Amino acid sequence: MADGCACDRHAHMYLTVSEALTRGLSVADPIGETETVPLIDAIGRVLAEDCTSKVDMPAFDNSAMDGYAVRTADLGKGPLFDLSVGGRIAAGDSGAYDAPAGSALRIFTGAPVPADFDAVLMQEDCEVSNDGIRFTRRPKPGQHIRRAGEDLKAGAPILRRGCEITAREVAALASAGYGEVTVYRKLKVTIFSTGSELRQPGEELGPGQIYNSNRFMLRALLDKPWIDLTDKGPVEDDPARLEQVLRDACDSADLIVTTGGVSVGDEDHMPRLFAKIGGKTDVMKVAMKPGKPIMFGRRGDALYVGLPGNPVSAFVTWQIIGSHMMARRAGLHHAPQIPEPAILAEPLDRRAGRQEYRPVMIEGTTPDGTPRLRLMAESYSGRVALLAQADGLAIISADTGDLPKGHALPFLRF
Ligand code: AMP
Ligand code: MG
Repeated sequence: MADGCACDRHAHMYLTVSEALTRGLSVADPIGETETVPLIDAIGRVLAEDCTSKVDMPAFDNSAMDGYAVRTADLGKGPLFDLSVGGRIAAGDSGAYDAPAGSALRIFTGAPVPADFDAVLMQEDCEVSNDGIRFTRRPKPGQHIRRAGEDLKAGAPILRRGCEITAREVAALASAGYGEVTVYRKLKVTIFSTGSELRQPGEELGPGQIYNSNRFMLRALLDKPWIDLTDKGPVEDDPARLEQVLRDACDSADLIVTTGGVSVGDEDHMPRLFAKIGGKTDVMKVAMKPGKPIMFGRRGDALYVGLPGNPVSAFVTWQIIGSHMMARRAGLHHAPQIPEPAILAEPLDRRAGRQEYRPVMIEGTTPDGTPRLRLMAESYSGRVALLAQADGLAIISADTGDLPKGHALPFLRF
């Protein structure tokens, strides 16, 4: 391998994390196909069109206050101003109003301001009597009126394709007049967990058996409105059975995610089976810790991501590489999480080698608010229960060795 490789025992065989991610993104081409759905059904989906406002925002001149609309030309010299109140106009009224000259209009927030009225007085600034209103400060023309199109003109851009339609986006689309919107079709994702030792939580464990945590972890990670998920459950380490399930998955899904069986042991069948069914592997080994055994590749339209079996490794490799590939395939903009600055609450004792993502807990902050990180133990097997207590992943670059307490260390907050 050329540039970009990191050093471990077999430096030539490993890609750096950033090189693996670049390759991963390059093979995770967006599905592209779209569908148009009612706005309410677009919540949580991925927007597939650039959207501009269909209306001026606001759509008409309206009052920003509860108070009185006036025509400043009607006002005398002051210092006291007296006007009769010639009518009342509330939010939802049409705004067509025939007010006699020299009179004010009672008006409420959001109500249309009739065309010849050019200022609104706050009700707090008016003395009200049977004859009308009295006030002392001359209103400025335009005061407390929100003009049509002052926030956004019809045709102005509001959202770019590739965003996830969350609360803020769907509110923007609603206010811009979108009754329906074009989104990418749901990404078809198939998952299964490999391993003859796996049992369903709640069952009795026999000798040599463990609970299948990856299946549930992946279900949680993939529980998204833009995913159409197929869960094939656990599959034992039987090559014929694994081949069958993998082939079926590659025939029907846009993305297949498995855990386990991607290492170099005799029971690690996935790389060989993927090649056997016609898959082309793009990345086999990444110089990252945890998670060295991770692979991905393509077979026809299907993208395959094989995560390590160790649950902490599976979680970290998914966060750092797999999730970004999936997001891009679904049509989402790729926006990598920006690491936050932090410092070590204890010394780090480590041998340089692979880029490491160490689960950390935040133990208070420095006086300026920088988080102080306590490191979770380096041994990862069985640490998945503790992962639930972690606050994020510290990023330890490949060439970093021992570090003293108080040293800066960036981290990715969960
Ligand atoms: P593998 O990558 O298949 O060699 O698995 C590595 C380690 O992770 C082994 O100790 C497995 O027993 C464990 N493991 C594999 N799959 C799972 C799973 N779905 N849930 C919990 N642990 C697993
Ligand atoms: Mg296994």
